[in-house]
Amino acid sequence: MHLADILARDTLTLSFEFFPPKSDAGWDGLFRTIAEFEPLAPSFVSVTYGAGGSTRDNTHRLVTRLRRETTIEAVPHLTCFGHTKDDIRIILEGYAVAGVSNILALRGDPPTGARFLPPGDFPNAADLVRFLKREGERLGVNGGRGFGIGVAGFPEGHSETPNTLLQIEHLKAKVDAGANYIVTQLFFDNSAFHDWRARCELAGIRTPIIAGIMPITSVSGLKRMAELAGGTRFPASLLKAIDRCKGNAEAIENAGIHWATEQCRDLLDLDVRGIHFYTLNKSDATKRIYRTLGVRPSP
Ligand code: FAD
Repeated sequence: MHLADILARDTLTLSFEFFPPKSDAGWDGLFRTIAEFEPLAPSFVSVTYGAGGSTRDNTHRLVTRLRRETTIEAVPHLTCFGHTKDDIRIILEGYAVAGVSNILALRGDPPTGARFLPPGDFPNAADLVRFLKREGERLGVNGGRGFGIGVAGFPEGHSETPNTLLQIEHLKAKVDAGANYIVTQLFFDNSAFHDWRARCELAGIRTPIIAGIMPITSVSGLKRMAELAGGTRFPASLLKAIDRCKGNAEAIENAGIHWATEQCRDLLDLDVRGIHFYTLNKSDATKRIYRTLGVRPSP
């Protein structure tokens, strides 16, 4: 189903992000997790893509298994860094054959490490969006409407563009190129999200914005997030709450889930269009947030 139709159906979209596992045990575990998520009737789930193509086959495999084995709409991420037009065309043809309706279009980052990768044919995500739109229509996806296309948004900025006005212009370029929705980077400070959403509106961005939420469940998870989502602000009161629970893993998890729940409650109060949960392939934290918010069928 085209994401525009999902957004028209669900006044509040609720969605989850998974990554393709590396081992057979990981695949079994993920499908057990997915079985727990299915009764929550998510609007869609999304599947990450390793920049440069490192998970190319496994992203495709997970999305097609979700299509075959569940009732959930699965949206693959696709990054263009390091890919040629032909690479992307072949990937899109595979998705069209598999009946995939939507794609989250990203630039990705050069992989860290020794391997040199030429940047490819798409300097930024807006170029990929334009290409996806054209190819989706050519391939007859969604009865000729083309792919539903999502793009990334960064409420707390993106490190490569310190000029925040320019950054919103770059986001607007992705929307003008044909994006149907925006999913944000995770954040812990809702005021940053609300302010950024108002600035998007001022810039003429009317595309639905889905807020990215990740509950902290451990100190090591928090450190990993700080590394992966560089620039994300960790409010002092969140860090104090975690610090008070020092040495007590269960209390830390409770504090992280409580924070994320309060974030969601505030977003709902202020009519957010959707919430996208970064699950790290686990279900417990998100299920607990659901229970507390009273949205959709409770697990
Ligand atoms: P772009 O929109 O191209 O922006 C990248 C930078 O270039 C920004 O600083 C922007 O301001 C700047 N820029 C854009 N256009 C221009 C222009 N015309 N001239 C000059 N500068 C310009 N990464 C993965 O590898 N795999 C994933 O599955 C993945 N999923 C993600 C999901 C979400 C919801 C988010 C928020 C991020 C995800 N990422 C993923 C990370 C993402 O690929 C990186 O953060 C990347 O650095 C930015 O991608 P983008 O699509 O926003 O790129």
